[in-house]
Amino acid sequence: MELQELKTAEQTAEIKTVDVIVPCFNEAQNIDAFYDAVQQVAESISGYDFSYIFIDDGSEDDTLEMIREIAAAAVTDVTTVRYISFSRNFGKEAAMYAGLKASSESRGGRGADYAVLIDADLQHPPELIREMIKTIEETGCDSCAARRVSRKGEPRIRSLFARGFYRIMNRFSDIEIIDGAVDFRMMDRRMVKAIVSLPETQRFSKGIFSWVGFDTRWIEFENVKRLSGESKWTMWGLLKYAIAGFLDFAEAPLKFTGLLGSLISVGAVIYLIVELLKTLIVGKDVPGYESLICLLLLFGGMILAVLSVIGEYIGRMYLETKGRPIYIEKESNIDDE
Ligand code: UDP
Ligand code: MG
Repeated sequence: MELQELKTAEQTAEIKTVDVIVPCFNEAQNIDAFYDAVQQVAESISGYDFSYIFIDDGSEDDTLEMIREIAAAAVTDVTTVRYISFSRNFGKEAAMYAGLKASSESRGGRGADYAVLIDADLQHPPELIREMIKTIEETGCDSCAARRVSRKGEPRIRSLFARGFYRIMNRFSDIEIIDGAVDFRMMDRRMVKAIVSLPETQRFSKGIFSWVGFDTRWIEFENVKRLSGESKWTMWGLLKYAIAGFLDFAEAPLKFTGLLGSLISVGAVIYLIVELLKTLIVGKDVPGYESLICLLLLFGGMILAVLSVIGEYIGRMYLETKGRPIYIEKESNIDDE
């Protein structure tokens, strides 16, 4: 009897748990195909117990119903499917956070051994999960993340824009962001707990993943077109996201504007002295108003630019100090364990 108990304990200890975290916003067309594809991969990997955490990010289509159906069907199955549904669209960052938090609080607060973030539109090939597990087990690293080596099927302008962003980000901020890195990544529970412990409400995960440290390995994949529907990103949305990410992790704009301001002030004082001496020595000729107006406009513009950068930071501080929750849950099938 005792031996039997020991054996089962040993067996369960060997099986590791993996939470698949899926942010979904209007993905009703994709969810079933996505679930089948991941299940197929999950079933082919032995020694790992897969469960799912779907986050419905305020979808306006049937996404939530589809998730409920999958969860209901899974009850009879061995896999657990948990879900959280938001009261409105809070954005993918909030959805990823909610999923990671749920994963780290599961299993009596121990958390799953691994959590993997993956998109619902099958743009992140589920087969890579096998490779991620292998990489983590073989190298003993904490995280394995995917990186797109091509941007095929993506609008040209978006690729150009993205490249520029990574270049600027890596040049001016304290963290490094890998070009082509997507939010498809497997992490061990230590790293998940570290990420969840960061309380900021305006989250930029690509920066956070790098900021928390830990040993990350990269695997590469070719870009895949989204299964159905359109990307939720507009150019304007991407631009705002890029600026937010930059401000989150870079103090360069603040330092740069400070330097610019001082340089201009010193220049102005020198210019003033030169003019004063000129007037004293050679007398005063009629000065042109044009240069004066030009200077006025130049300074006015620069002051406004500097102010707007500072304002941007203050605005973000204001939002953070309000301490609002990152998301609001409307419905969930996760009961507090
Ligand atoms: N997503 C989300 N909330 C949003 C926007 C997107 O949860 O507000 C999810 C979406 O359902 C998908 C993933 O995030 O699973 C990636 O979104 P999308 O495909 O639109 O972005 P892209 O692949 O173009 O970067
Ligand atoms: Mg996509």
